[in-house]
Amino acid sequence: MNLSTWDIPSNSNNDLINELSKAKVLIVEDQLLNIVLIQNILSKHFNIEIAKSGEEAIKRCQTYIPDLILLDIQMSGIDGIETCKLLKELPLLKDIPVIFITSYLEHEEFCWEVGGVDFIRKPFTKNTVFNRVRAHLTIKFQRDTLLELVFLDSLTQVYNRRYFDTHFVKIDLNAKRGGEDYTLILIDIDHFKQFNDIYGHLDGDKALKAVATTVKETLKRPNDFVARYGGEEFIIVLPSTNLKGGVLVADNIVKNVAALKIPHSASSFKSLTISAGVSTLGSSNEQTSILQVADDRLYMSKQSGRNRVSY
Ligand code: GH3
Ligand code: MG
Ligand code: MG
Ligand code: MG
Repeated sequence: MNLSTWDIPSNSNNDLINELSKAKVLIVEDQLLNIVLIQNILSKHFNIEIAKSGEEAIKRCQTYIPDLILLDIQMSGIDGIETCKLLKELPLLKDIPVIFITSYLEHEEFCWEVGGVDFIRKPFTKNTVFNRVRAHLTIKFQRDTLLELVFLDSLTQVYNRRYFDTHFVKIDLNAKRGGEDYTLILIDIDHFKQFNDIYGHLDGDKALKAVATTVKETLKRPNDFVARYGGEEFIIVLPSTNLKGGVLVADNIVKNVAALKIPHSASSFKSLTISAGVSTLGSSNEQTSILQVADDRLYMSKQSGRNRVSY
């Protein structure tokens, strides 16, 4: 999600207009004339990318994630309907709204069946193309904003507990089904109560943000995520990662937070540190959940001196 500028209560209309002007629209069309026509209608208002086939569209979406796709149906190679089916199978792309462009009445049913949000009939008019695209981009951005409000922690701008609870169930299930390992890292800021007592809550909040940002920046894979788990606790989920890989990431996080050198006079390290506990699916069993194991190991880190990783 990339909508940090959104702020529903204040000035939401201006924000929407601003957001719409940055919208990325992918046009998938094999006929030059249609490409030129659609481009003329949309390029004044949005950022346009072109793909001349379904194959090219899917390839392009690996590196360029559009906000909306305008998809021609009749194309050489895989047609628009097949292209849409393939897009809907990809987790990162499945929620992008697809508007079909079609010359044939009989295609309409297929458009809905494969998950299109709308269609535009050829020959199209300038007004229809523009207004359909704008309407669906508006819905898309409003949906993103709502998701952000529901799933992002407003202080630290990382995911919140609700996001973790919702997504952890799916990740756990997928890993068990696929026989793949995944890793959880639970972290907790050391002597944070004293930090607040000494420096005040405002500086406490600033430190919390700095820790969250550092964790986020340390994670490299697109499916890794961090969520604020409690007051000053964060949980990191690393799909398809074994214990060795997880410990490496946890070590980097602990080191990177220490490297911030946020002064903490009551700590034996004299700066703000965190402790971590790492567990993998393989290291837990029916009785003790992976979460419990991570929590036990976090406790071990606290007991054995803090500013460290236990696994
Ligand atoms: P330990 O090293 O054992 O983890 O000690 P600790 O003091 O960090 O542990 P404890 O769980 O006793 O205290 C957590 C403190 O974190 C309590 C509260 O002062 C602080 N805290 C929790 N949420 C927030 C927050 O949103 N903002 C600020 N400023 N402080 C918070
Ligand atoms: Mg065509
Ligand atoms: Mg705590
Ligand atoms: Mg703590």
